[in-house]
Amino acid sequence: MTVKTPIYLDYAATCPVDQRVVDQMVPFFTQAYGNAASRTHAFGWTAEEAVERAREQVAQTIGAEPKELTFTSGATESNNLAIKGIAEYLHEQGDHVITVVTEHKAVLDTCKHLERQGKRVTYLPVDAQGLVTAQQVADAITDETVLVSVMFANNETGVIQPIAEIGKVCHDRKVLFHTDAVQAFGKVPIDVQAMNIDLLSMSAHKIYGPKGVGGLYVRRRKPRVRLAPQIHGGGHERGNRSGTLNVPAIVGFGAAAEIARQGMGEESVRIAALRNRLRDRLREEVQHVTLNGSEEHVLPGTLNMSFSYIEGESLLMALKDVALSSGSACTSASLEPSYVLRAMGLDDELAHSSLRMTIGRFTTQEEVDYVVELIGKHVTRLRDMSPLWEMVQEGIDLNSIQWTAH
Ligand SMILES: *Cc1c(COP(=O)(O)O)cnc(C)c1O
Repeated sequence: MTVKTPIYLDYAATCPVDQRVVDQMVPFFTQAYGNAASRTHAFGWTAEEAVERAREQVAQTIGAEPKELTFTSGATESNNLAIKGIAEYLHEQGDHVITVVTEHKAVLDTCKHLERQGKRVTYLPVDAQGLVTAQQVADAITDETVLVSVMFANNETGVIQPIAEIGKVCHDRKVLFHTDAVQAFGKVPIDVQAMNIDLLSMSAHKIYGPKGVGGLYVRRRKPRVRLAPQIHGGGHERGNRSGTLNVPAIVGFGAAAEIARQGMGEESVRIAALRNRLRDRLREEVQHVTLNGSEEHVLPGTLNMSFSYIEGESLLMALKDVALSSGSACTSASLEPSYVLRAMGLDDELAHSSLRMTIGRFTTQEEVDYVVELIGKHVTRLRDMSPLWEMVQEGIDLNSIQWTAH
């Protein structure tokens, strides 16, 4: 079997830009290079037209009106704009925000910032699958609540929250509802009307578009949502976000959204089949492997599994030919286990020995099969070296052992 390495299984982190997207972007660097805000000549008009077309393409993907879309530098900015923008604009109405412990840092750190400014934030816990319920949201809402922010799908586990139910609760209680939909956007159907979503964050580079561009949907009717801008300047984007528009990137975002929307049905089936193959074959090949998250409420391409009785770090090193991420956040100097998996009740050991494998548009079955065999081989090798594994094989219950402290 010949498979080209390294293999990319980290589509939740970012994606290659689709060649069809690049082709549509290129003319806007060197030929149609106008400033979309230039009203006095054809260069500006052409750029503006391209931006408005992209706005339609992105809006259509979530069932929104083009006017309801604000272009940003990415979902980190969209999350900041949504959360700070609403908290600031509605400060006289209340000072309470509700979110979830497993959110992306772009939401959690923004909420921490609000707390430092004296606002109150409720962080809802999740169950063992990583899910919250609409009832939890309903119970947390008070007269002071101005915003609920619950992610559509989790970036580590792919778990999809009951967004329509949460949207209904928020709508009934007249509290605004924001969702960080980065992982779900373009992968599963989203309808901001049916789901009662008031604000929604998206990013181009998670859907085969360029990095550094994203969007925030801001509802304009029933209710009309207003927010305090976080970047002031020339009043671009209806005053929501000033700054000269990155026209080539926005064109790429639109093209990527259009391709995602049109191909979603077919692509999600193909990708889910590959993910299921990876999951099922790993279960066959490797003993003591557990799925982290939900088998039912999950994105098509995400798989998160823990491999007991091995060190996550050793496994990652053995898999250096495969680009994937682990539950050990070894990006910094610290070796903190994933806070998302910890919140789902996993112990440090299982969180450390977890792998997130995300499948995407360009993943092949050969690559999946290669990775299964590679993981199988190395898990076996690492366990053969482990005294813990030897005890498990002998039928000793590790939990019954009184370890002596030194
Ligand atoms: C990637 C990601 C972000 C950040 O998006 P950027 O466009 O890279 O800033 C936010 N939330 C989730 C869930 C993500 O996966």
